[in-house]
Amino acid sequence: MTDRKRVVIVGGGFGGLALARGLRSANVDVTLVDRENHHLFQPLLYQVATAGLQPGAIAVPIRGVLSKQKNARVLLDEAVGVDLERKVLHLARGKELPFDYLVAATGARTNYFGHDDWAKYAHGLKTVRDAIRIRERVLLAFEEAEMETDPARRKMLLTFVVIGGGPTGVEMAGAIRELGKSVLAGDYRNIKDEDIRVLLVEMAPRVLMPFDPELSEKARLALAELGVEVRLGEPVSEVAEERVRIGEEWIDASIIVWASGVKPTSFAAKLGAPLDRAGRVIVGQDCSIPGHPDVFVLGDAASFTPAGAERPLPGLAPVAMQQGRYLARIIANDGKGLPRPPFVYRDKGAMATIGRRRAVAATKRLKLSGFLAWIAWGLVHVAYLIGFHNRLLVLFEWTWSLVTAKRGARLITANIHFRDTPGRRPELPPLIVERHGRRTRMPGERRSLDS
Ligand SMILES: Cc1cc2nc3c(=O)[nH]c(=O)nc-3n(C[C@H](O)[C@H](O)[C@H](O)COP(=O)(O)OP(=O)(O)OC[C@H]3O[C@@H](n4cnc5c(N)ncnc54)[C@H](O)[C@@H]3O)c2cc1C
Repeated sequence: MTDRKRVVIVGGGFGGLALARGLRSANVDVTLVDRENHHLFQPLLYQVATAGLQPGAIAVPIRGVLSKQKNARVLLDEAVGVDLERKVLHLARGKELPFDYLVAATGARTNYFGHDDWAKYAHGLKTVRDAIRIRERVLLAFEEAEMETDPARRKMLLTFVVIGGGPTGVEMAGAIRELGKSVLAGDYRNIKDEDIRVLLVEMAPRVLMPFDPELSEKARLALAELGVEVRLGEPVSEVAEERVRIGEEWIDASIIVWASGVKPTSFAAKLGAPLDRAGRVIVGQDCSIPGHPDVFVLGDAASFTPAGAERPLPGLAPVAMQQGRYLARIIANDGKGLPRPPFVYRDKGAMATIGRRRAVAATKRLKLSGFLAWIAWGLVHVAYLIGFHNRLLVLFEWTWSLVTAKRGARLITANIHFRDTPGRRPELPPLIVERHGRRTRMPGERRSLDS
């Protein structure tokens, strides 16, 4: 028998990985379970979706990150349940994992706000697979438009709709518009810049609602200058195959991207603790769940309301990372019999980029926009990437794209199924969506063309 406590972390995202690394010198054994083999830097996913970066630049194998940490091991598996009395975690492959401390750092998934059937037509952006699928469909739409002679179909093929005017939607819409411009610079013979239509739809009265109204307006103007049509104050009332209804108007579009919201993945809810309206687990000031001081939830899966505040903290990478580092201290100090101070979030501000050269950034004291904000945005993102190799890759790709206005990752690697039926579009493997914590094909979806 050993007196070393067993810390089981579910999820190797921002929070889980910060926690595991924070425990490197603690007298504990760490087991990190993730159903993916990689840690993903989600803030740059939209750049993979728009061919600006290769997936390998923003994803690193979790095993590699922790390989030198002697007190940590990594398991590729999915947590499917927990027995809090016996203190064991149930894994999808049938194993039971005993723990002294359990931390759910399982993040969030795309939220269609009660319209899960829209997932078939509106692409979410949460995983590398999502990003590659969007990239391939965008590129395929250009390929089809190059050969299309029917003006109405051509118009549909070159129309892209992004739903949700938060940072992800703003960044995605700007990047698709710029991809159009840069791809056009020489690659296609029959597509002109003015043929491409990118719409950003937001039901709120302005984009980037969490930002100061002045910066929101600057972002809207920058988008408009790029050529993005920004539709504000209009809800999306329906999404169908290659069509979206904004208010009463139907718009035909080849790609619809859903950047409108997230909800927690299903595992954290299995802890049996109370949930807030968004489905996040309500945690105490030390991130533990009621009645279980050794069971914690952090990051996007948690609803943490600082003492005296009215609202819980937002789902942001710094929140998850700071909570991860905080829990590492708490767990290490528990072993020494030290008390638990409450978690205090240090808000370092928010940023969003618009196209290749502009951004908006706000801290408590400073408001920035334009190229300077873009430089600040770039430096912060590179600094937060994990691994020197990834930082170098991203810096190289950005410099290359800034100088040449080209995008390197314009590959379609999925099997393209060319249909022999005139008028039908070539097909790529179908969308896979997550349901009840499992990734499944949507009802009515065809089987993968690969299988
Ligand atoms: C497109 C996009 C852009 C974003 N941009 C920004 C930004 O610019 N700035 C910012 O601060 N934040 C941004 N965010 C939000 C930020 O990424 C999240 O707040 C952050 O990832 C939350 O960290 P986390 O550790 O809670 O979860 P995550 O980082 O999502 O990690 C969760 C991990 O848990 C694993 N997992 C889930 N369920 C299970 C299970 N049952 N068993 C095993 N493993 C499981 C997942 O595979 C994943 O690795 C963005 C998010 C997205 C999707």
